[in-house]
Amino acid sequence: MKRIVNIIGAGLAGCEAAYQLSKKGILVNLYEVKRLRRNSVQNLDSFAELVCSNSLRSDDIKNAVGTLKEEMRNLDSLIIRAAEANKLPAGGSLAVDRDNFSNFITKQIEEDPNITIINEEVTKIDTSLPTIIASGPLTTSSLQDEIQKIIGKDYFYFYDAVAPIVKKESINMKIAFKKNRYEKGETQDYINCPMNEEQYNLFYQELINAQVAESHLENDKKLKYFEGCMPIEAMAKRGYKTMLFGPLKPAGLRNFDGTNNFGVVQLRQDNAKDDLYNLVGFQTNLKWPEQKRVFQLIPGLEKAEFVRYGVMHLNNFINAPKIINHHLQMKICENIFFAGQITGVEGYVESAATGIIAARNMTNFLTDRPMVKMPNTTVIGGLINYIITTSSQNFQPMKANWSVVASLPLNLAKSRKEDKKQSYSQRAIQDIKKILNNF
Ligand SMILES: Cc1cc2nc3c(=O)[nH]c(=O)nc-3n(C[C@H](O)[C@H](O)[C@H](O)COP(=O)(O)OP(=O)(O)OC[C@H]3O[C@@H](n4cnc5c(N)ncnc54)[C@H](O)[C@@H]3O)c2cc1C
Repeated sequence: MKRIVNIIGAGLAGCEAAYQLSKKGILVNLYEVKRLRRNSVQNLDSFAELVCSNSLRSDDIKNAVGTLKEEMRNLDSLIIRAAEANKLPAGGSLAVDRDNFSNFITKQIEEDPNITIINEEVTKIDTSLPTIIASGPLTTSSLQDEIQKIIGKDYFYFYDAVAPIVKKESINMKIAFKKNRYEKGETQDYINCPMNEEQYNLFYQELINAQVAESHLENDKKLKYFEGCMPIEAMAKRGYKTMLFGPLKPAGLRNFDGTNNFGVVQLRQDNAKDDLYNLVGFQTNLKWPEQKRVFQLIPGLEKAEFVRYGVMHLNNFINAPKIINHHLQMKICENIFFAGQITGVEGYVESAATGIIAARNMTNFLTDRPMVKMPNTTVIGGLINYIITTSSQNFQPMKANWSVVASLPLNLAKSRKEDKKQSYSQRAIQDIKKILNNF
């Protein structure tokens, strides 16, 4: 008997998943709303539209997203094949002609006899039917309501105000110090970057004059910021001292020699491995190069390596640690899988990659074969592991980076930084090849 899977959304993840299921002989009903009604960032009727940048970022395997692409090539990714066929010169990055890229994928999907395209807005989900929800960061509001009914209201997020994350090893601990405010608690959980008045003045001036990113969405411009997640630059513009009563409050954070600071930036642990820290209260709409330039003025962060920059735009994602397992399958409803940005990964490549994993595991689920947990030594495995095991309380989307991947064995971990990246990459690609037979 032919099995059928419903996929909601013909974006990067949905198209990738449809292609992967079809290859295994599974029939797909692919639902897409954009030909009836586009959202405010869509410009094309074709599928897998890149709504913003036309770059799929680095193609260098020493970079985690470069290795992720190589893993996807091994898994026969339609999205990566389409990108390579429509590549534009962009140095070490994989940039594409966005129209040709989207047309290439649409043609593949439209000509596939196993895939039926249904130009419809999905507003109801029948949980007795195998379904992959890949409706993306801008899921329509009726479907948002429906997903909330299935997963629980508290586990679905609408608005994304994300603070940057830096690698712990790149923080200068000769300047920064570990301490909790008023020394509360038994452990010292926060890393504190102290500022004197002169340093604060410079930071303040650069921050209020830094370039802000264009809003991607008309709606964003209308959205009033919640007081609790106001961009740091907007807060600074309210007045010279406003930040000193907010995220940069120095009270309770004296230096160990008892002296006071003018302002203190706090960083909080972001992952269980304890190698990533987020800048507390630093959600921001600054352009990414501006974030690097201005936030590196913070004493202790001069050489900070940013694994994620802050963003502020509408974004729907589920609380993955609560809702899904390693196979991207809902914990409480085994017919439902999630793929794409809605799972809490961030980025074009990451979204497409989860489409492959959801589809391959859905295939195994429907054919009574064991599902596959991607090894944490691979970038896709590390990323999935991050989204499902990180703290559900402060869950925020994550892009590919080496910190989410399992540490290297001690003998390799001590090698030079560039050699380490090479080792991470080689191990990831070897390990992806090992699981190909099960997929
Ligand atoms: C404004 C914005 C800009 C971004 N810019 C970048 C960037 O520059 N680089 C980057 O790497 N990442 C970027 N991202 C993040 C993310 O990588 C992309 O959004 C990516 O397209 C996500 O892939 P996806 O398959 O999860 O969702 P999408 O590609 O958005 O696909 C989801 C599809 O589902 C459809 N859909 C929604 N609701 C329904 C429904 N009820 N019924 C049927 N169909 C439905 C949508 O029309 C859409 O076609 C951006 C995100 C946003 C919101």
